[in-house]
Formats: sequence, structure tokens, C-alpha cells
Amino acid sequence: MDKTKLEEAASLIKEAKNCMAFTGAGVSVESGIPPFRGENSLWERYDPVILDLKYFQQYPEESWPVIREIFYDFYGKAQPNKAHQVLARMEQEGLLTCVVTQNIDNLHQVAGSKVVHEFHGNLHYLVCMDCGFRQSAPEVDLSVLPLLCKHCRGLVKPDFIFFGEQIPEKAYADSLTAARKADVCLVMGSTGEVMPAAMIPREAHRHGAAMIEINPELSHFTGDITHIHLRGKAGELMSLLEPLIFAE
Ligand code: NAD
Ligand code: ZN
Repeated sequence: MDKTKLEEAASLIKEAKNCMAFTGAGVSVESGIPPFRGENSLWERYDPVILDLKYFQQYPEESWPVIREIFYDFYGKAQPNKAHQVLARMEQEGLLTCVVTQNIDNLHQVAGSKVVHEFHGNLHYLVCMDCGFRQSAPEVDLSVLPLLCKHCRGLVKPDFIFFGEQIPEKAYADSLTAARKADVCLVMGSTGEVMPAAMIPREAHRHGAAMIEINPELSHFTGDITHIHLRGKAGELMSLLEPLIFAE
């Protein structure tokens, strides 16, 4: 890794008044969670139709066991990696205002980040589709499926967005506001293909933010809005940036 690029990125972050992070599935790859697309991805093994809203409502007895296996048995065991940890430390020490994440795995929050705009929701909560009753997933017995609401017997779904659902309004609005205020935007582990999420870094760029990207591959942002591309894995590069960012 080019040392001057790392130093340049670190000094931008240190001098920023309003640094934000935008994260995608790539930040959780080193925690053992595969991305949806590409090599070793989730959709190579499972049919994405289980997360189609209409299909889920029609065939919950088929969707729910697969959802439990992927998102609760498997994701549930994952731990934050260095990328999540350094972002949480940056926030604690006043070097980061927020994380806008496309991820639903709750790992930013487990690492200690407080201001997280969950663009696609979060698997940590379950919500009743009829009465809106919301509860914490670890408190719910997932052994009898499909899951029905204890108040109204309505169908319960994970509180992340399925195909065919709208982006949660507040997260969307808060993410746009953060992007317009940011003077540095750290984009990590995102292809830039998923819309409208990919609008967020573009909005930051349009409003003058310096754009730092961490990704082992080229994305739709690289060569377009990215100013500094740190090419590599999120956890590894955040480990290299950490001593530079927090140096006196
Ligand atoms: P994505 O846009 O999130 O892309 C994944 C990106 O991560 C790719 O550009 C890839 O090059 C990069 N990457 C791979 N390993 C990396 C590493 N170690 N460090 C940094 N970057 C790395 O695309 P997707 O996977 O198709 O996801 C689609 C949507 O589903 C996104 O909104 C995504 O956030 C969500 N999703 C979330 C999770 C999760 O919650 N952990 C997992 C899969 C998908
Ligand atoms: Zn209910």
C-alpha cells in the first residue's frame, strides 16, 4: 500500500470538521459475512426470492426457515472486525459524525458506533406486519416458524428491507442531510450499484466532500467520484490508518 496515499487520507480525516462513513457489505467480509453478489456470495447458495416481500407474505413457511438459517443462525455468530472497531473509535474521539450503512448485520452497533443511519434496516429487530409491534430478535423464540405476533397473530418479519420495500424514511432523510454536511466521506466496501443507497456518497461529493474509498476492487465510485482509492480490505486498511489518524 502506497504510504503517501494513506498519509493523505489520514490527514484529510484528522482535519475534517464533518467526516462521515458510508459502508456496504465489504466491511463485514472480514467478519465472515459474504456479500450478496460475486464470488462465494449468498445468492450463489440461496434463492433471493425468499426476501421478496410478496413471496414472503404468500409463503412464509418456506421463507422463514431460510431467513433464520442465514440471518440469525449464521450472521448472529459474526463479530465486528477492525473496520467496525476503528469507525467506532473515530466517533468516540470526535473524528466521525456518523455511519450510513447499507448493512443489516448490526455490527457497527456491536462495535460501539452510536450514530448509525440504517439505510436498509437492521436484523436485530423483528416487526409485526399487521400491528407494527417491534421486538429484539434475541428475545424471541425462533424455533416455531413462521413467526406470528404474540398480540395479533400477524406475520412477523425481520426489520430490514425486503425486495419490493421502501427505504425507511427517516434513515433516508438523515443520510441525505449527513451527506450534504460532510466535508470528508469515507466509502468502504460498496459496489455503488445498489440504488438509492449509492446516491448518498454521490450527494456528499456533489456538495464538495473529499472522497476516500476503501475497496480491494474497483467500484462504480472509483474513477468517478473517488479522490483517494485505498485498494485493499477494510479491516486491514483501517488497522494501517488507525495509528496515523490517532497520532498526536
Ligand atoms: P455491495 O455494494 O455491498 O458490495 C460489496 C463490495 O465489497 C464490493 O465492491 C467488493 O469489492 C467489496 N469488498 C469485498 N471484500 C472486501 C473487504 N474485505 N473490504 C472492503 N471491501 C470489500 O454489494 P452486495 O454484496 O451485492 O450487497 C447488496 C446490498 O445488500 C447492499 O446494500 C449490502 O450492504 C447488503 N448486504 C448486507 C450484508 C451485511 O449486512 N453484512 C451482507 C450482504 C449484503
Ligand atoms: Zn401484531
